Parts: sequence; structure tokens; C-alpha cells
Amino acid sequence: MIHILILFIIGVLLGSFLNAWIWRTREKKSIVRGRSICPLCGASIMWFDNIPVISFLILAGKCRACKKPIALRYPIVELFVGIVFAYTYWKHGMISLELIRDLFIIFFLTFVFVYDLFYKEIWDRASTIPAIILALFTLIYGWMAWQSMLIGALVGAGFFLLQFVISKGKWIGGGDIRLGLFMGVILGWPHILVALMIAYVVGAVISIILMALKKKTLASETPFGTYLAFATVLTMFWGEQIMSWYIGLL
Ligand SMILES: [Zn+2]
Repeated sequence: MIHILILFIIGVLLGSFLNAWIWRTREKKSIVRGRSICPLCGASIMWFDNIPVISFLILAGKCRACKKPIALRYPIVELFVGIVFAYTYWKHGMISLELIRDLFIIFFLTFVFVYDLFYKEIWDRASTIPAIILALFTLIYGWMAWQSMLIGALVGAGFFLLQFVISKGKWIGGGDIRLGLFMGVILGWPHILVALMIAYVVGAVISIILMALKKKTLASETPFGTYLAFATVLTMFWGEQIMSWYIGLL
């Protein structure tokens, strides 16, 4: 039980780091240099106002200096990473290298999810680089047959590369191809197919809802990386169940 709590706290802290990293990526600022500042007024944030979730509650969601509302996204990301980390530990039941692998994946996919949702961009640092690291560790520790990983990566990247070539880069960007590669390394073959299918179904359903609510037109840009990141985590946890459920339908 104490471990679940510790993992939750680690998750919340990493979620807080993720928020800062996303903002600094957007603002083209270094993550290692410079103090925490309010993104609205630029005032320095004191350590006691920078405690994840708790400070947001104490400050009633407003910056101490400028009193402008702090985006709800900050505490949501912190709580989300905390809860998913605790859940992942609970699922593994112990501290292991495989647990760290899953937390590593969740951390980077959360970056992709949030960044693409808000800024419509998929960064290399959250796709290609983690994919290479994960591929190396997967080979060393034999988490997956290398054939499965290779086919997964080829299908994941190839699926988007094909669309990129056909549409001459109009439908999707290079970011999708790199994320497809990361997904393939995470899930392997045939789970990569499950994730791609989920992403398309979820993306279509949400687009239809948004269009019905008139918040969106067909031409609106879809944050596809967000759907892909979501589908990858879902498949990571429940890929087997989803696959046998789907096969049962046929
Ligand atoms: Zn402020």
C-alpha cells in the first residue's frame, strides 16, 4: 500500500516536471536553466507555491502575483500521471525493470498527448529518442521478440509514411511517422494494429461529437498524436483483452 502511495507521489512530481517541460518546449526555453515563473505575468514562483496540486488548491487556482487563473491543465496532468503511475505499480505488484519501462513509456506519451492536444505538434524528444532507448533495452532484456518489435515499428512508421507520401505531407506530418515508430517499439506486432484502430475509432467519434456541437469543422486540425498516445497506453494495458474481444465479434 505504501508503495502505491509513493508511486502516486512520484507520478505527481513527474507530472509537474512534465508541465514545466511542455511549457518550456513551447516557449523554446531550457528545462535546466531558469526558475519557475508564472506563464501569465512572469513573476517568480516561490517553492511553497510550486507544490503540485496542493498549491493549486491553496491558491484557489490563481497566481499569487497577478491573480489570473492558472490553467486547469496543470493539476490535471499532475493528478493523471500520479494515478496512472500508482495503477501501473498495482498492476505489476512490485518494483521491477518492467515497471520502470512502463512508467517511462507513460511519461513520454503523456508529453505527446498534452503537447499535441494544445499545440498540434509532435516532438522528436518525446517520440524518436525514447523509441531508440526503449528498443535498446527491449533487445537487451528480451521483453519482446526482436521480430515482433521490428515488424511493429515498420508497420507503425510505414502506415503514416505511406499516407505522408500519398498526400505529399498534407494529411499528416513527420511527427506522426516518428510517433508510429515509437508505438511499434512499445507494442510490437500485432498489437500495433489494435492501437492504430483504437486511435482512428476514438478520433472519428470525437470529431463527430465536436462537429455536432459545432466546435469544429471537417477542416479543423485534428490532434492525432493525442489519440495515438491514448490508444497506445490503452493497448499497452489491455491489448490482449481488446484483441480477443474483437476477434470474438467477428
Ligand atoms: Zn502571474
